[in-house]
Order: sequence, then structure tokens, then C-alpha cells
Amino acid sequence: MQIFDRYTNLLDWTKCKENHPRVLGRTLDGSPIACWQSGGDKKPAIFISAGSHSTEQAGVTAAVELIDQLETDHQIYVIPCRDPMGMNGFPYVLSLSLGEEPELGSVEDSEEILKDSGEVLYQDEETLLVIIGEYGYSTSGLYGRFFPGEAFLEPLVGRRIFFPSSAEGIEGTAPFQRAYTLVVSPTGEILHINRFHDTPWAPVEVRCTRRLMAEIQPGLTLDLHEYGGDAFWFSARHQQGDDDQVWEQKIADGIIQTVVESNTKLVEEDYLPGSFFTKGQPGVFWLNPQQRGEGLNLADFAANQYGLSFTIETGMQSGFQHRVRTSMLAAQTAVNVFERRYA
Ligand SMILES: [Zn+2]
Repeated sequence: MQIFDRYTNLLDWTKCKENHPRVLGRTLDGSPIACWQSGGDKKPAIFISAGSHSTEQAGVTAAVELIDQLETDHQIYVIPCRDPMGMNGFPYVLSLSLGEEPELGSVEDSEEILKDSGEVLYQDEETLLVIIGEYGYSTSGLYGRFFPGEAFLEPLVGRRIFFPSSAEGIEGTAPFQRAYTLVVSPTGEILHINRFHDTPWAPVEVRCTRRLMAEIQPGLTLDLHEYGGDAFWFSARHQQGDDDQVWEQKIADGIIQTVVESNTKLVEEDYLPGSFFTKGQPGVFWLNPQQRGEGLNLADFAANQYGLSFTIETGMQSGFQHRVRTSMLAAQTAVNVFERRYA
């Protein structure tokens, strides 16, 4: 179970598995947005994706592994990396504007390069934001920090802002190894790739995903993420129909049971990932996108349009192999319960 340093490594590695992906579209740098199909013929289909947040790499590796390891008679569709550009890292995304990848040893290095090559749009004690070519670059995260429509964001409306991974000691995501992608909406709101699923304007990665979903009509959607802690949790979505709700709950129960049995730690009793979540049993959180605002993420959209959906969250502070295995275990368990519904 390997850590993919670059998106091309992921594409090369899956080549030897002799299951060729379908290209759903191309990101701004021309990278293919690749989708693999596996599993059986049975419908409804199962959709698995990961990597919309490039710092959460265990989900990406887990999704790749699941392409041929997930056991099911149902059709499986997997997009293991929803942000190929960000996965390639901060020097890479800088090269899209600079023509070559700079050597970055420290935050000071990146500040110097951004200032030398770009137009400064915003600066405070913790953050420098510039525009170079078609992209915004910042030294740290901007999500959730500004009101929509701030004047300094105007040059970046409809564009992306990249900032580097910076936390030390995260296996799979060293400082600068990944570029976190933010997207400035048409109204000047700073969001990210896991939004825009319900809006006419959306980044190409999201448009590819929702076109695929419209085609396959997934009865179960699993989006593999990671959070900053060292334990496990996941979010479920309230379903439109009673029967769907019953099965959403059954899968939630099943995932928690198998994860606990595998001796993986769940988040503490007092943990709450956000004010827009309602606690279920330990480790289970029900997400209410209306309360959050910002439109629908992939799992919200799946629940709205297609059926059962979950966002799996492993803890970045634990070992990579363990995170991958836990993510895969949660996915296999969800699929096992889902299969009982259609047995
Ligand atoms: Zn995430």
C-alpha cells in the first residue's frame, strides 16, 4: 500500500493492474480525471472517491486498493483522486505559472518566490496571497477566514488558490508535498474542491464527478477523507425515504462495529467536527448541509440525488498503513451491509 508522491505514479501503478481507467475530463494542467470500474454487474452501482483534499492521502491509496480488492457483485466506480493538481505538491502547482518547479525549503523561501514573481493581493502576519499567471498562491490556508466578496479576492474570482501542506510528521503529506486547492466562487467565496456539487458554476473536477454520478446513479457513495487527529469517525446523511434512512443507519452501525473490533480508536465522546453535525453513536456524526451553508459536498449531493452516502475520516496523526486499512475496512463493511439490502 504505497504513498503516491505524484498523480502520474498513481496512474502508472494502476497500469500494471491491467484495469484501464476511463478519462472523465482534464484538469487545468491537462491531467486526466480518471475513473476505474470494477466489481460485478449488479445495480445499483457503488461510487467511491477520495483526494478532493490533497493533504488526505490515505484515502487516495485506499481508493486505489479498493479498485480490485473490494468484494461485491455490484458495479463499482472509483475516482481515487479528485484533485490531481494539488496531489502533485506546491512546487508543482507553482511551476504551472513559473515554468519550473522551485526549490522550497521553508516558508520564507516560498514567501520570497511569491513576492518576486506575483502581484500581492493580501498580506497579514500569517498569510501572503499573490496572483501569478492564472492562479492564486498563498503561504497558508484562507478557508473560513474572510467574508465572501472581499475586494482583494476580485482578481481570483473563478480561479484557484493553492497553499502548501505544512504540518510536520504526517505520513504521506510532508510540508510542501501537497498543494491544498481552494476555489474562489463566482460570488467571491473561498471554498474547495469538495463543494460546488449543486451549483451551475463548478470546477471541472466536480463537473466530471457529477456527470459520472448522473450516469451510474449510485445507490451507495463513499468519499474517503482524513482529519487532523489520530482517531476515526465518519459522517452520515439523512435520507429522503424511510427505507433509505433505515439502511443508512444499518451501514453506520456496521462500520462502527467493525472498526471498533479492529481495535481502531474512535474520536473522544466530546469531539464534534463542526456545529452543523449532530452526534449519533460514538464516532458517527450526521451532517446537515443547510446549517453549514456553502452548498453541497459530494456526500451531501449523493444523499440529495441518489441515495446512501458517507464521508469516511481517518486520523492523519496515525500511521499511513493503518489509516489505509481502516478506510478500506469501513468501505468493505458499508458494501457488505449494502449488499444485504439487495440480496
Ligand atoms: Zn477532507
